[in-house]
Amino acid sequence: MKHTNNRLLSLLLVIVCLCSFLTACTEKPQETPGEEAKYDYLVLVNKQNKLPDDWESVVVLEDAQNTLPEGIELNENNDYLATDVFKVETKTLEAFRALQEDCANDGITILLDSTYRSVARQEELWAEFAEKYGEDYCKQYVAVPGYSEHHTGLVIDICVIKDGKIINDNDEMIAERDLFAKIHEKLADHGFILRYLEGKDDSTGYAYEPWHFRFVGSPEIAKEIMDKGLTLEEYLTLSTQAQNPNK
Ligand SMILES: [Zn+2]
Repeated sequence: MKHTNNRLLSLLLVIVCLCSFLTACTEKPQETPGEEAKYDYLVLVNKQNKLPDDWESVVVLEDAQNTLPEGIELNENNDYLATDVFKVETKTLEAFRALQEDCANDGITILLDSTYRSVARQEELWAEFAEKYGEDYCKQYVAVPGYSEHHTGLVIDICVIKDGKIINDNDEMIAERDLFAKIHEKLADHGFILRYLEGKDDSTGYAYEPWHFRFVGSPEIAKEIMDKGLTLEEYLTLSTQAQNPNK
C-alpha cells in the first residue's frame, strides 16, 4: 500500500510539474506599460482631431535651450532665442540634436524657435488675441486650445542663422527656399517629417510651413512619409486602408 502511495505521489508530482511548465510556456509575458511605446508617436492632432485627454499627463518633456554662435546680435524680436527654456518630448529632443549636428556639418545653423505649448497656455493666447483682435481673427490665425500639434511635445519650429543673422520671420523663412530644401533633405534620417507641405492645405488644414517639423518615432516611418510626399493625414489614412482592405 505504501509503495502504491509513493508511485501515486511521484505521478502527481510529474503532472504538477508538467502543468506549470505548460502554463509558463503559454502564458504571455506581462506587459509593462510605460516602458516602450508610452505614447503614440503617430498621434494625429489637427483642426478636426483633438489632443488625447490624458496626453499631457503622460508625455515626458525635457528642458532645452539654444546655444547661439558667438557674435550674433540680438534684438527685442529674437532675444527669446537665447533666454527661453523650450520643452520638448525626450526622443524628439534627442532626434533634434542629431538633426542640428547634421545641419551644422553642412554649415547650416538651426535653432529651436517654438516647441511644446500647453493647452492652458493656448487658452491664454486665445484670450489675449480675442481681446486685442476679436474672435474672428482668432478663428483664422490662432489654433483652438486642444487642437494644436504643438501640444504633443513632438513638434519643433525652427529658425535659422544665415550670414550671421537670425531669420525667424515666417515670410523671410519661406523665401529661403534653397536653405530650407537642404534642411528638409535631412529630416527623415532623424525621424522627422515636414508637417505642412506646400499645396497640401486641404489635407493638413494649414498653409506651407517650412519650419514646422514633426517627430514620428522612427526614420523608417519618416522616410516612407517623406519619400512619397505624403502628409501625416494621408499616411494614416493609407495605413488604415492597408489594415482593413474591405473598408
Ligand atoms: Zn509650428
